[in-house]
Amino acid sequence: MSTEPFASVEIIAAKRDHQELSDAQIDWFVDAYVRNVIAEEQMSAMAMAILLNGMNRREIVRWTKAYIDSGETMDWSTLGRPTADKHSTGGVGDKITLPLAPLVAACGVSVPQLSGRGLGHTGGTLDKLESITGWRASLTNAEMFDVLNSIGAVICAASQTLAPADRRIYALRDVTGTVESIPLISASIMSKKIAEGTGALVLDVKVGSGAFMKTVEQARELAITMVGIGNDAGVTTRALLTAMDVPLGRTAGNALEVQESIEVLSGGGPTDVVELTVTLAREMLEASGASGLKDPAAALADGSAMDVWCAMISAQGGDLSAPLPTARETHEVFAETSGYLTKLDALAVGMASWRLGAGRARKEDSVQFGAGIQWHVGHGEVVTAGQKLFTLHTDEPARFESALEVLMQGYEIGAESEIAHRLPLIIDRVV
Ligand code: URA
Repeated sequence: MSTEPFASVEIIAAKRDHQELSDAQIDWFVDAYVRNVIAEEQMSAMAMAILLNGMNRREIVRWTKAYIDSGETMDWSTLGRPTADKHSTGGVGDKITLPLAPLVAACGVSVPQLSGRGLGHTGGTLDKLESITGWRASLTNAEMFDVLNSIGAVICAASQTLAPADRRIYALRDVTGTVESIPLISASIMSKKIAEGTGALVLDVKVGSGAFMKTVEQARELAITMVGIGNDAGVTTRALLTAMDVPLGRTAGNALEVQESIEVLSGGGPTDVVELTVTLAREMLEASGASGLKDPAAALADGSAMDVWCAMISAQGGDLSAPLPTARETHEVFAETSGYLTKLDALAVGMASWRLGAGRARKEDSVQFGAGIQWHVGHGEVVTAGQKLFTLHTDEPARFESALEVLMQGYEIGAESEIAHRLPLIIDRVV
């Protein structure tokens, strides 16, 4: 006879029938899944019931805690400096973590940044950094502490033992159509960030075609949920809602985005990338009670953020003297008419970059470091017939056709009056 305190089917049926789950039911369900007492199809059914019927605040907080309790938690209190981290819900051309982590460290706050690889049309920070020769994403906890202690910022992969329940449930959600659930996304993101041990957290919740959340209302609900979970767990948490209807900066792709990040750290780079990096840095400093130490704009201008970047990359084996990888083939797209770039759609650019080989379709796939897209004209800018609009990069020229097919749907040239409305870069702030 089973010694388990609950029957899994009864808990699934309760959520199916819109009932509230108790703390004990939630704790047991997640723990029993990790112990393989609950089968994959049962957790899949539960994920679908949660997606369809939702969870209240207490249930989400408890579900998140159950993920955290499934693994180890980290503690940076012996560093003697405040810690802050940033999490983006993912977008196209979103390379902000690369300049942001060293920038915040240069302003006096340590950044323990656990990042992921990309799946689908949004890129992953680790894929980008791995385009630097020799750079290593996997560090032991002791190595992570050493880099953080000596340099002030570290970007690395989360260990297998951090919120392992989320790792397994996320993989299931990916193949069962249950990713787009606010309770499940919130628990997934926040469990990893709380287990990581950061003192403060700033969430960059993206809105628009290239993001998970297509509307401001959905993004605000996600932000309010996650900020609530973080603050309840003792992590000072706030969120910015930011635009992802148009891609960020001028590049999407791994090495291409590293190059653009280095331009930002050198005091240049696209204005939207600079503005978002500096705004998020100020939020992180403020959330960790360290806003008076140094202003991020000054740390970009005086080279101190670049110094931290070089030290951080070298500490993880990266060779900054080696050239970044480039794709074997390029294809350029030229404007056929004059006017304005009235539309530049983030999702189309992200899909095209992915089809060129910059992203992966399955977790096991590898990425091409040199693949991706540069757009030479931004949304709303003047276009002259014959002007270069895009450069596509890939190692496999057979990929150009399908990338162009999606890219062509993603931009338009027309009259100034036809320029599509775009979201402001910083849409809202949730504290
Ligand atoms: N990122 C995560 O880590 N989890 C989700 O559920 C969605 C995005």
